[in-house]
Amino acid sequence: MKPKVGIFGFTGCAGDQLMILNLEDELLDLVGALDLKSFTMASSAVEESDYDVAFVEGSITTPKQKQKLEEIRKRSKLLVAIGDCAAWGGVQASCNGILKVEEKMKEVYGSDKVWEIYESKPLSAYVKVDFVLPGCPIEKEEFLRAAASLLRGDLPEAVDYPVCVECKLRENGCLMLEGKLCLGPLTVGGCRARCPSLGVDCIGCRGVIEGEARIKSALQVFREAGFKPDYVRARLRMFAANYPEILEVK
Ligand code: SF4
Ligand code: SF4
Repeated sequence: MKPKVGIFGFTGCAGDQLMILNLEDELLDLVGALDLKSFTMASSAVEESDYDVAFVEGSITTPKQKQKLEEIRKRSKLLVAIGDCAAWGGVQASCNGILKVEEKMKEVYGSDKVWEIYESKPLSAYVKVDFVLPGCPIEKEEFLRAAASLLRGDLPEAVDYPVCVECKLRENGCLMLEGKLCLGPLTVGGCRARCPSLGVDCIGCRGVIEGEARIKSALQVFREAGFKPDYVRARLRMFAANYPEILEVK
């Protein structure tokens, strides 16, 4: 029997679902190996079902989304967060703790209407997440590798090294030595150091690497390179606003 799969989206740009649709050479084989019950970006034919694996994109920003996410969780053996919004809250979380939701809505829409909207939170704020596929958007090969494991019922191996490792493997010169604040030491690898390889500093789009010692040592590297804590915090906010310990950088 083919594994039953659902692909869902909440608040975000839908780039991760689009990345799945853009699999081109592999898409037909992938879809042929699955019993795809729900993928609204690809088809309006949605079948209410239980799922062996649910891939969920986007952050949670409304009570209705929270309820829908909880339903998906109840129906799924494995729930996978795909992309940064689902994994960490995304760019839309960058003002969490600074501006209240009401202030943001007033700023953007200019009205005093009371909105039923939460601060943007990752899926893990509300339900158990079995695996996280980071990225903004997710990496195609990483998704295919993870999907192959998940569809056999195994959890894939998570990337446990920072972007700097991939930079070294590609023999890139370090941008920090050019005076740029590159978030590579603090960021989950897996993108083959895409930005530094093009001479552009990493903005941390794959999220913060786990491990207190690693985080401390990366922050120490930034300090020693002369970057002011306020500047480091501001750069980190874009993708790490739901990591209060990171934002307490001194
Ligand atoms: S350029 Fe960035 S990612 Fe590459 S080694 Fe330097 S700090 Fe790390
Ligand atoms: S180098 Fe950094 S910003 Fe660029 S894709 Fe990789 S994680 Fe994202």
